[in-house]
Amino acid sequence: MRRTLSRLVRTPIVGGNWKMNAGNGITLETVDALVAGLNAAPAPKCEVFCAPPTLYLAHVNATLKNGFVTSAQNCYKTTKGAFTGETSPEMLVDAGVPWTLIGHSERRDVFGETDELLGEKIAHAQSTGLGVVACCGEHKEAREAGTTMDVLIPQLQAIASSTSDWSKMVIAYEPVWAIGTGLTATTEQAQGTCADIRSWLAENVSAEVADAIRIQYGGSVNDGNAAELAQAPDVDGFLIGGASLKADAFATCYGVFK
Ligand code: PEP
Repeated sequence: MRRTLSRLVRTPIVGGNWKMNAGNGITLETVDALVAGLNAAPAPKCEVFCAPPTLYLAHVNATLKNGFVTSAQNCYKTTKGAFTGETSPEMLVDAGVPWTLIGHSERRDVFGETDELLGEKIAHAQSTGLGVVACCGEHKEAREAGTTMDVLIPQLQAIASSTSDWSKMVIAYEPVWAIGTGLTATTEQAQGTCADIRSWLAENVSAEVADAIRIQYGGSVNDGNAAELAQAPDVDGFLIGGASLKADAFATCYGVFK
C-alpha cells in the first residue's frame, strides 16, 4: 500500500551536512565565509539546519542567523564518561544545538556503526529532547536487485524501536549510491522509496506518525535538480552534502520549498 498525503501538513526541512569540511576549506576563516554567505542569502521559508564539524558547532551556532539552526553530525549514546573523542547529546543541548544526525551512511560504512548502536544513540538523544535526523539507505547492489526495502526495514526497525518522541524525529532516506557520487535518484525513485518508508511507518508505528513525519531525500541534491525532486509529494526536504558548502547553491535548494 502506498500512502501519498499532501505535504501541506508537513513543514519541509532541509539540512546541510558539511561533513569534515569547513565551507570551501578547512579553517575557521572558511567556516566564517560560508556563514557570512548563508546570513546574506534569502531567508528560508522552510526549516533549515546546518551541520558543521563538531569543532565549529558552537561557533556556527553563535554566528549563523537568518532563520537557520544547527545540527551535530553525530553523537554518542551516554551522558558523560570515558569515551575519548565522543560528544554527548546533553552537551549538544547545553550548547543550544537542536538537532543531530544519527546513522549517516558514512558512520555506518566508514566507522562500522551498527543498527544496535544507532538505536541506543537515538534512544539516548531523544531522552534529552534533541531532535534526531535518522539516516537510512541502501547500496547500489540492493537498488539494482530490487531489494531496497529489505535493506531499509531493519534500519527502520532500529529507528522506530528507539524513538520515544516522533515529533522530534526526521528520517533521511539517502541511497548510498547517490551520496557524493553525482548520481541522483530519479524523482520517481526518491518518491517511491519515501512513500514505501511512510507506508512501513503507517503499518508498524501508526497512521498519525506516518502522516506527520518529515522524510528527507539525500544524495547529490544540488541547485540544478532540487526543484524537480521537490515535486515528489512524500519528499519533505533534503539532506545535502556537497551543495551545502556553497551558500548560493544551498539557498537555491532550500528555496524550492516555499
Ligand atoms: C550527505 O552527505 O548526506 C549527502 C547526501 O551528500 P551529497 O549531497 O554530497 O551527495
